[in-house]
Amino acid sequence: MKYDLLIVGGGPAGLTAAIHARARDKSVLVVSNDPMASPLCRAPAMANYPGLPGVTGRELVERLVKQAGNLGAELKRGRALSVMPMGGSVMVSVENDAVEGRAVILAPGVSRAAPLQGEAELLGRGVSYCATCDGMFYRGKSVVCAGDAPGFEEEVEFLRSIGCGVAVKRLAGLSILGEGRVTGVRDAAGEETPCDGVFLLRASIAPARLAPGLETEGGYIKVDGRMATNLPGVYAAGDCTGQPLQLAKAVGQGQAAAHSAMEEMD
Ligand SMILES: Cc1cc2nc3c(=O)[nH]c(=O)nc-3n(C[C@H](O)[C@H](O)[C@H](O)COP(=O)(O)OP(=O)(O)OC[C@H]3O[C@@H](n4cnc5c(N)ncnc54)[C@H](O)[C@@H]3O)c2cc1C
Repeated sequence: MKYDLLIVGGGPAGLTAAIHARARDKSVLVVSNDPMASPLCRAPAMANYPGLPGVTGRELVERLVKQAGNLGAELKRGRALSVMPMGGSVMVSVENDAVEGRAVILAPGVSRAAPLQGEAELLGRGVSYCATCDGMFYRGKSVVCAGDAPGFEEEVEFLRSIGCGVAVKRLAGLSILGEGRVTGVRDAAGEETPCDGVFLLRASIAPARLAPGLETEGGYIKVDGRMATNLPGVYAAGDCTGQPLQLAKAVGQGQAAAHSAMEEMD
C-alpha cells in the first residue's frame, strides 16, 4: 500500500502531524520505536506545556498515541534506517521491510550519539545499522555489536543464531578500524578486537545518515518556513530541526509540516 503520509518518529511532533493529517482524511503510517520508551516519558511534570500544566511526559505521549490511533493513524514499530525520495514517492526502510508514501515527515527527535571514529568512512564496508538486514553477509564471521536500540539483545541473538561470532562493546569511546573495509574496533580502554563487521544498533540515527543528501546545519535538519527540507517530498518537525528543544515547538511544527505536505497533495 502507498500511504499519503509517512512519519518517522512517534513523539509529540510526529503524532501531532499524524492527528492533523488524519483529520484531513489522509492515510498515515507512523514508523517509530516504542513511543512509550522515549526519554520524554520519564519527565515527572511539565510546567510549560500550554493548557496542561503539570502533565507528565508519559501521560502526554499516551494521550497523543491514543488520539492518533483513534483517528485511524497506523503505527509500525521499528527503526527507520533510510529515507529515499523517488520522484513522486518516498520509500522508508524499516529494519528489513520497506514502506512507501507520497511524502514523509521526519520527526525522530535529536540523535544524542556522536558518530564514531571510522563510522562514516566504513558505512556499507563492514559497518551496518541493522543485524536482521545485513547479518547474512557475516555468517561464520566475527562481528562486534554496540548500541542502545530497543531490541538490541534480540539482534545480537539473531546474529549468533546464524553462526556469527559476536562480541558486544559499549558505544562510548569506540573507534572502528580498517582502510576501505572494517578490520576491527578499539574500545575506550584501548583494547583492539579484530572483526569483519560492526553493527551499530542505536535507537536513533543522525538525520544526514537517515536520508542521504539531506541538508543539515549543526547536526539539525535544515527546513524552510513550510517545514520542507531540501529533498522533494521530505519535511521535518520537532527537536530534529533545532532549538528550542521544547514540546510546544514540536507540536506546532508537526502540525505545520503535515499542513504543507498535504497542500502538495490537494
Ligand atoms: C526528561 C525530559 C524532560 C523534558 N521536559 C520538558 C518540559 O518540561 N517542557 C518542554 O517543553 N520540553 C521538555 N522536554 C523536551 C521535549 O520532550 C522535546 O522537545 C519533545 O519531546 C520533542 O518532540 P519530538 O517529537 O521532536 O521528538 P521526541 O519526543 O524525541 O520523539 C521522537 C521519537 O522518534 C523515535 N525515533 C527516533 N529515531 C527513529 C528512527 N530512526 N526510527 C523510528 N523511530 C525513531 C524516538 O525513539 C522517539 O520515540 C523534556 C525532555 C526530556 C527528555
